[in-house]
Amino acid sequence: MIWSSRILESLTVGPLKIVRARVVLPIRQPRLSNGAVVVSGGRIQAVGRWKDLRPHCAGSPTDLGEVALLPGLVNAHCHLDYTHMAGQLAPPRSFTDWIKRITELKGTWNRDDFARSWRHGAQMLIRTGTTVVGDVESVPDLLPEMWQATPLRVTSFIELTGVRSRRAPGAILDEALAAIAALPRGRHRAFLSPHAPYSTTPELLRRCGAIARRRRWRMTTHIAESEEEHAMFTRGAGPMFDWLERNQRDMSDCGGISPIQHLARQNLLGNHLLAVHANYLDRGDAELLARYRVHVIHCPRSHAYFGHRPFPVTALMRRGVNVCLGTDSLATVATPRGQAVALDLFEEMRVFARAHPGWPPGAVLRLATLNGAQALGFAGRTGEITPGAWADLIAIPSSVGLREVAAALVHNRQPVAAVMIGGEWVPGFPSAPP
Ligand SMILES: [Zn+2]
Repeated sequence: MIWSSRILESLTVGPLKIVRARVVLPIRQPRLSNGAVVVSGGRIQAVGRWKDLRPHCAGSPTDLGEVALLPGLVNAHCHLDYTHMAGQLAPPRSFTDWIKRITELKGTWNRDDFARSWRHGAQMLIRTGTTVVGDVESVPDLLPEMWQATPLRVTSFIELTGVRSRRAPGAILDEALAAIAALPRGRHRAFLSPHAPYSTTPELLRRCGAIARRRRWRMTTHIAESEEEHAMFTRGAGPMFDWLERNQRDMSDCGGISPIQHLARQNLLGNHLLAVHANYLDRGDAELLARYRVHVIHCPRSHAYFGHRPFPVTALMRRGVNVCLGTDSLATVATPRGQAVALDLFEEMRVFARAHPGWPPGAVLRLATLNGAQALGFAGRTGEITPGAWADLIAIPSSVGLREVAAALVHNRQPVAAVMIGGEWVPGFPSAPP
């Protein structure tokens, strides 16, 4: 039980809400059957057994009944503005071909296409239990309007590239920084995302890294995603190398080093970095990521879509790397037989569990909660139910016992019953109080 009467007595931050559930999963602490969470001022004040907490809380409680109550899921990597690209690009034979095709597709979209896509993607995430997202933004001027339109907590990483445009790194960076400075302050945040080492220049990477360190910002980049990127940096060869060379990218940074070593050389590795994918590691790369306490984001459905080599989760986690989950965009989720797909971390957990059958379900849940919160710099604030954290909770219909509940959640296909963000119920869910 994570509760003391002292905590409740010291409350001065507003009316108490007490929420009961058949099972509560605080994630970091043991699960509770017939559990309750006390919320006030947008934060969790206590978590414990219903019979212990109820006498201390006046007013009418909310009994969610036969549900499992857990922290809102944390999606550490997404591209909300590509949501409507679902099903538009069949899985490619070559990663380089895919980059060419998505770049062409983006060229046919206007601002409204990206805006509709973003809004729909954010709705999908809320509906499927995500409350916090790390999102790469390719159209930053959408953000003031988009941020207003969602109850999600959004960390937007402004995407920077610099090969096709051939603009000076300083100009690209200044534009992104001006866009960030013009954004409203509040629940959401914006940082930088140099897209990937192959689509940027070493100078742009170094400059982004220096800014992120100076301002104590998180930063994210796609790294070691494909075999072709790996060949480009290690051997100075392959389809990606040839294509970029034809496009007059300066290829003098290629050959002799792995993509991860390339990031190290540009001084990008650090605890502020969220490295997306990290599929193709060379000897010593996992140690390097561990030494610099880099966070790695794995996107299971995107990984399956491209048919990459197995994700080295065990090698990374054995060395102490924080690994978490992301949905990536729906452009890289296979759509079998024309079925609709959604941005959905439960789907990602299920695909991960299928690919890593030995994993305990409780550990899979951590990837989508606690670990994601840590990666985004929100440790103790979200991703777990603990006093002082934001009151971001989700309820999933469940009638199984404490032992089975984690497995049931990892394989959950039932609609989310209720979502609370910052102590407020999000409307439109079956079990959410009016
Ligand atoms: Zn991505």
